[in-house]
Amino acid sequence: MTVASYFLPRSPAEAVEILAARGPSLMVMSGGTVAMPLVNEGISLPEEVMGLRFAGLDRLEVVDGGLEIGATVTLTRLLRQRTVRMLSDAARSTASWTVRNLATVGGNLFTPPPGGDVATALLALDASVTLTGPAGSRTVPLADFFTGFMTTVLRDDELVTSIRVPAVEGGTAYLKFGRKQANTPSVVTVAVRVVRDGGAVTDARIALGAAGPHPILADGARTALVGSRLDDDAIGAAADAAARESEPFSDGIASEWYRRRMVRLFVRRALEQVASAGAGEGR
Ligand SMILES: Cc1cc2nc3c(=O)[nH]c(=O)nc-3n(C[C@H](O)[C@H](O)[C@H](O)COP(=O)(O)OP(=O)(O)OC[C@H]3O[C@@H](n4cnc5c(N)ncnc54)[C@H](O)[C@@H]3O)c2cc1C
Repeated sequence: MTVASYFLPRSPAEAVEILAARGPSLMVMSGGTVAMPLVNEGISLPEEVMGLRFAGLDRLEVVDGGLEIGATVTLTRLLRQRTVRMLSDAARSTASWTVRNLATVGGNLFTPPPGGDVATALLALDASVTLTGPAGSRTVPLADFFTGFMTTVLRDDELVTSIRVPAVEGGTAYLKFGRKQANTPSVVTVAVRVVRDGGAVTDARIALGAAGPHPILADGARTALVGSRLDDDAIGAAADAAARESEPFSDGIASEWYRRRMVRLFVRRALEQVASAGAGEGR
């Protein structure tokens, strides 16, 4: 089977119209860094493909101190923005320059396990995702977007059109642990955001990548931190809780046992980084 039709819509509306008309067998391709290898290896043999490159989904704007990120903004552009440092760090840790020049933020939400590194950062930052279909757009918190192993709330006739990141409150840290410098799948990725008032933690989000079927929030770790002074005991309790509640898996990169240990270690390190940076604002 070969590709019989390739669609290149020139607007979001046209993209949604084509998707509605062709149905779920249409392969949606953004940067193609996940989709194309599947075609090359014969795992996916689509007859119809829609490229989003010219669909007008590539705006990257500062809005109310946060970011509005079009779904097709590349990771290279995300790396270069200066508004949200954690997203720059996450983009830099993803793949390599050549891949980042093509790979998109929207596509990162669909990264197969061990999962998207940028998506993990977006989860810690309390991002929301706008999904657009023939009936219009709806916005869902990223925390509610993932539903299971390679499943999301996206309907067959919808596209991810943008991602909204609110202004960053509190201190942040992002750590990815892989085996190599570049093009390295994650052993574990940890993204944390901690809000403090007078030294006491009032809110926290600890997102884990490669530690579940999709990027997950460690709610037990949050509970261990809120109300604490982000001291060593609280950090240790949060790291232990994150290791307990993570759902790691074994693959060619690391065993479940090792991943769980690395979750504990890297949550500890990330929180220590925030603690030593002081109670100031993060980006
Ligand atoms: C060598 C190599 C190294 C890599 N390293 C990393 C890494 O370190 N960390 C990491 O996180 N990822 C890594 N990846 C995976 C990949 O590059 C990223 O996940 C990237 O962000 C995917 O974006 P894309 O635009 O290329 O997705 P595509 O390949 O275009 O699409 C991927 C999937 O998402 C769907 N999709 C894409 N955009 C939309 C949209 N707007 N609406 C609805 N569905 C959509 C497509 O239908 C497809 O199923 C690597 C890939 C390669 C080839």
